[in-house]
Amino acid sequence: MIDKETVDRILDAADIVDVVSDFVHLRRRGSNYIGLCPFHNEKTPSFSVSRSKGICKCFSCGKGGSPVNFIMEHEQMSYYEALKYLANKYHIEIKEREYTDEERQAQSERENMLLVNDFALKHFEHNLFETEEGRNIGLSYFYERGFNDAIIKKFHLGYSLDHRSHLYESIKAKGLNPKFAVDTGLCIQSDRGIYDRFKGRVMFPVLNIAGKVIAFGGRTLKNDPAKYVNSPESTIYKKKNELYGLYQAKQAIVKKENCYLVEGYTDVLSMHQAGIENVVASSGTSLTEGQIRLIHRFSENITVLYDGDSAGIKASLRGIDLLLAEGLNVKVLLLPDGDDPDSFARKHSASEFQDYIAEHETDFIKFKISILLEGVENDPIKKAAAISDIVRSIAVIPSEISRALYQKECSTRFEIEEKIIASEVRKAIEKNAEKARSAQNRLNREESRATDEPQPVSAESRQTVETPSSQPAETTTPADQTQTFGDGVFKTYETDVIRNIAKFGMCDFCKAIDESGNNYNISVLDYIRLDLESDNIHFSYLPYVKIFEKAVSLIPEFKASSASRITEIEAECEAALQAGIDEIRNKYSNMEDIQREEKNLRDRVTQLHNKRVIEFQSSFLEKKLCSDPDDDIRHTALNLISEKYQLSKLHTKYAKIESDFDRLSDLVPGSLWVWKDAILAHQIKEIQNQMKRATTPEEIETLMLQMSELMNLRAQFAKLMGERVIIP
Ligand code: ATP
Ligand code: MN
Repeated sequence: MIDKETVDRILDAADIVDVVSDFVHLRRRGSNYIGLCPFHNEKTPSFSVSRSKGICKCFSCGKGGSPVNFIMEHEQMSYYEALKYLANKYHIEIKEREYTDEERQAQSERENMLLVNDFALKHFEHNLFETEEGRNIGLSYFYERGFNDAIIKKFHLGYSLDHRSHLYESIKAKGLNPKFAVDTGLCIQSDRGIYDRFKGRVMFPVLNIAGKVIAFGGRTLKNDPAKYVNSPESTIYKKKNELYGLYQAKQAIVKKENCYLVEGYTDVLSMHQAGIENVVASSGTSLTEGQIRLIHRFSENITVLYDGDSAGIKASLRGIDLLLAEGLNVKVLLLPDGDDPDSFARKHSASEFQDYIAEHETDFIKFKISILLEGVENDPIKKAAAISDIVRSIAVIPSEISRALYQKECSTRFEIEEKIIASEVRKAIEKNAEKARSAQNRLNREESRATDEPQPVSAESRQTVETPSSQPAETTTPADQTQTFGDGVFKTYETDVIRNIAKFGMCDFCKAIDESGNNYNISVLDYIRLDLESDNIHFSYLPYVKIFEKAVSLIPEFKASSASRITEIEAECEAALQAGIDEIRNKYSNMEDIQREEKNLRDRVTQLHNKRVIEFQSSFLEKKLCSDPDDDIRHTALNLISEKYQLSKLHTKYAKIESDFDRLSDLVPGSLWVWKDAILAHQIKEIQNQMKRATTPEEIETLMLQMSELMNLRAQFAKLMGERVIIP
């Protein structure tokens, strides 16, 4: 557990833009940032990050949240794991004690596997540098291949001792659960006991995008036919979604606005050593869509490096279409005959390597045209086949402009009229679309078969929203009523009220005067709380209850931090005012001009002041609620806040809201009235039901009285609502 003070320090330090940028390349858009959503597959960005609100959210799949939420979701960590991650990132010290046995038991499978892998990484590193076998065999091998200590350490290379189960024994001795040694694939269970998968190999740890070890590659130093052995797929290692070297490369990829793609572990290492750090490896297999998406999160540009002698160039060209289809700008680099990036780097200095790249990088489509053109000029049939091949590649490019440019290029090089190429491309696009459609249909059919159950829940609640004044209880059967009343039946009405709290709870709402005649501010939260108390109304939907209680409990903390923040804002405004006045005095000499300009200036400064105060007041609760340890509070608050303001039909009936903040004075009381009105309607319905069952005239009379009282109240509400809200 981490103490509250440290938690607050971590949450204060964590900057959402900074945290998300470790995983997604963000671009500025207005006051927000935007990037490709890391939680689902997309080509156009819908993942939005707001620094002032401290939250991120995908408007397409809905995932996101505060920095803690984002890390939890992205790294599949628990709340406390995510806090630790952030503490580590911001160099905030947390005093951690050793886990007790129960705590260790309670940790998730995933965390346990990561823990065992992390131990193994350190164990292998230790073997490499600190044991005789490791130094003589492993380390000297790396040195022979030309790797220096810095690169060995940067990639956490290691050595697995040539011993049946040295790692396994060490894992047990460390007190880690040995089950996870097998689950991670580090050790193998056989009839004759458990043994180490990687024994006698040099080790290349595979880190995920967050820097956690999720797998290993082990290279043999003997004549083993299996040159490399890799960790098997597991809960933490999905090969198709990982790229070797990405963790070490991601910053350089963003900075250089380009990513180099190579084949092997050693290629990555050699290029880093040559000073080229924006490089990742697909580890010998063809690229998957998941891997491409990973690259796309950081850059639009990719350069694929080919070995010069690779007879398979033509065969591997097809795989590049996936990169084009993702919308990446693809270049290729052909290395001289017989060289892979690793051997080339060893033969040349770092600057020679970099120069070679700069001179020989070519656009992929142009490269492909050249390759396809070789030896087909005089053979119309082969030429036609080559053209349809290149047309297929052009057709997958999402950008119309790029396609047009390539069509032109293709027409010149193949000496074919451009409009013929263009029409072929169009045909290919239609064919692809048709294929996608039928695949989608197949999928839909399968899905509808899988979910044959009816979905009655939402229909019922929606009906309640649309007809707020016509007794919402009408649509629920008596059995439902007893079940759901007091347990979220008014959720729809409560949502509008709690949203105002989550977004604007601490904002000044109105002024009141105390006994000694002093003015004081009543916040949105105070107002709502007093109003609900006076009518003895409570939230019924549990997450809302929690948010409400949490918000109220944060009032003292808000007041404490408010005082100093307001002083800061005032100082800032005062400084702006002074600077402005000086400037005006220097610029104008005419008294009228000065007066006019000063008045404008004061208005602007007042606006700035109000804006800053509102920013502070509204962000305080948002940030706290969205980082709360309670899952209900965090998730619900995020949805309330990041929802593009969706007015329920309920509200639009009475008012059209342009900006929610500007209309707070309508929204807050309005949402309360609508809620109370729904409660009244419900009570009236109850009484009507009771009347049906009533037997004596006295009973009926009492009920009638109650009923007319309630109806009266409702009429008053209707009047209030009508008067209050200006319909534009
Ligand atoms: P080295 O230069 O030490 O031979 P390399 O990294 O250049 O290693 P390649 O033979 O070029 O290795 O293979 C490229 C990548 O393919 C390797 O880095 C590894 O990830 C993967 N690989 C190669 N051989 C195997 C194998 N037998 N089993 C599994 N993966 C392999
Ligand atoms: Mn090699």
